Amino acid sequence: TKPIHVIGGGLAGSEAAWQAAQAGVPVVLHEMRPVRGTDAHKTDSLAELVCSNSFRSDDAETNAVGLLHAEMRLAGSLIMSSGDAHQVPAGGALAVDRDGFAAAVTARIEAHPLITIAREEVSGLPPTDWDQAIIATGPLTAPSLAQAIAERTGADALAFFDAIAPIVHFETIDMDTCWFQSRYDKVGPGGTGKDYINCPMDKPQYEAFVQALLDGQKTEFKQWEGTPYFDGCLPIEVMAERGVETLRHGPMKPMGLTNAHNPSVKAYAVVQLRQDNALGTLYNMVGFQTKLKHGEQVRIFRMIPGLENAEFARLGGLHRNTYINSPTLLDTSLQLKGREGLRFAGQITGCEGYVESAAIGLLAGRFAAAERLGKQPSLPPVTTAFGALLNHITGGHIVSDDEPGKRSFQPMNVNFGLFPPLEPGTNLRPEGFEGRFRGKDKSVARKKAMTGRALAHCREWLGLGAAAEAAE
Ligand code: FAD
Repeated sequence: TKPIHVIGGGLAGSEAAWQAAQAGVPVVLHEMRPVRGTDAHKTDSLAELVCSNSFRSDDAETNAVGLLHAEMRLAGSLIMSSGDAHQVPAGGALAVDRDGFAAAVTARIEAHPLITIAREEVSGLPPTDWDQAIIATGPLTAPSLAQAIAERTGADALAFFDAIAPIVHFETIDMDTCWFQSRYDKVGPGGTGKDYINCPMDKPQYEAFVQALLDGQKTEFKQWEGTPYFDGCLPIEVMAERGVETLRHGPMKPMGLTNAHNPSVKAYAVVQLRQDNALGTLYNMVGFQTKLKHGEQVRIFRMIPGLENAEFARLGGLHRNTYINSPTLLDTSLQLKGREGLRFAGQITGCEGYVESAAIGLLAGRFAAAERLGKQPSLPPVTTAFGALLNHITGGHIVSDDEPGKRSFQPMNVNFGLFPPLEPGTNLRPEGFEGRFRGKDKSVARKKAMTGRALAHCREWLGLGAAAEAAE
C-alpha cells in the first residue's frame, strides 16, 4: 500500500499518523524539527506543548472539552492515552508533564511498525505523487509552505498573533503569603483539592497592579496592528484596558478561594499558578499571557504578593497563528476542494487548542486511511464533540450580519454552542424529581443530556456496541 504523508509532527500530525497506522495504512510523518525550528518549540520531540501544560477540563459530563477527551479516548487517541499516562495534579483539569508526555508520543510513533519519521521541512504543497497527504503544520507553519498554501488558496490564509504566559520557579514563590488550594477545593484526576498556588491581593494592591499593566511598556508589532486576538487567550494588559474590573472577573477572580494564612479576610483578587512539570519545580501564571516587554513583566509581576522575589523560567510573549478559511476551502472530510487526497488538520484548519487540534488530526487520519482502503470516510454525527467541531470548521459557522452573504470564521475552542440543541421534549429532570427545576440545575442537566447523547452517538459511530458500554 502507498503511504499517507503527514506533514508536521505536532499534536494533530502525531495523532493523524497514529490513527492511519492503527487502521493498517503505512504513514510517512514529515517533521522539520530539529532541521528547522519554530519561534515557540524548544525541543525535537513530537507533540511538544508550546505553552500551557493543560488539556483543560476533564469533566465529560458538563464540559465540552472534557467530552472531547472522552470521545478521543473511545477512538484510541495516542494524545489522550499519553496525556493520561503523564498527568500532573490540576484540580478538575487534565494537565500533563510536558516532557514525559512528548517523550511518550515520540517513542510510540517511533516504535510503530507502519510509521516512518522523516526529519525534513516540506517547503511547498505536497507533490502530486503523494496522492494522500495531510498538512498539519500548525500555527507556526514554516514560511515557504505557508506561502504556497496562500498562493493555492488565493491568499485566504491569514496570519495573526496572540500571547503566552510566564513560568515561575516554585522555590522563589513566598509560601508564607501564598497558599495551595484548587478553586472550591475541587478534586480532579490525580488531584488533592490543593493543586494551585494562590497569591492574594487587597483592593489597593489590585488597583495599583491594574494601573501598572496599563502603564507598562508593550512590545510593538506595527505590521500586525489591528489583528484580532482569540477571546480565550487575551493578553492581560488588553483585558485590563477593557475596564478596572475585567481581570477580577476573569483570571484574577477570588471566588472559591480562602486564604489559608488569613481565613477571615476575603482576598479582593487572586493570581493563580498551576504546576507545570512533574517535579513541581515550575508553576505557570494562569491566564497571564502578555505582550509586555520582558523587563516590564519582571517588574510588574513582582508587585504580586508572594512573587516579590520570583524568578522566571520563561517570560510571556507574542506568537504567530496561521490558519486557512476552512469553511470555503475544505469539504466535509477536511479535503482541499479541487485537490483530491490533500487534507488539512490541526490548528491550521482554524480550530483552537491542543485537544481540538489533536481531535481534528484524529479525524483526518481516519478519513485518509478509509480512502486509502477504498472506503468512504465516515463522518462523526454533529451531536458528538468530534462532529460539532468538524462542522464548525467545515461549514457550520455563522453568517456575518454586517456583510450579508459573507461568512465569518474565527478559530474557536470546542463549546456547547457548536452542538445542535436537544430534541424538543427531552426530559431533563432527574428521575423522581419533584418541584421547581430551574437556573443552574437546569443548565447542568441540559449539559448532561447533551454529553450523554454525544457519547452514545460517538459509540455508535465508532461501532462500539452496548457491550462495550456496559463493560466500562
Ligand atoms: P503544532 O503542534 O505546532 O505542530 C505543527 C508541527 O509542524 C510542528 O512540530 C512544526 O515543527 C511542524 N512544521 C511546521 N511547518 C513544517 C513544514 N513546512 N515541514 C515539516 N514540518 C513542519 N493551545 C492550548 O490548548 N493551550 C495553550 O496554552 C496554547 N498555547 C499556544 C502558544 C503558542 C505560542 C502557540 C503558537 C499556540 C498555542 N496554542 C495553545 C494553540 C495550539 O493548540 C497549539 O499550537 C497546538 O500545538 C496546535 O497543534 P498542531 O498540531 O496544529 O500544531
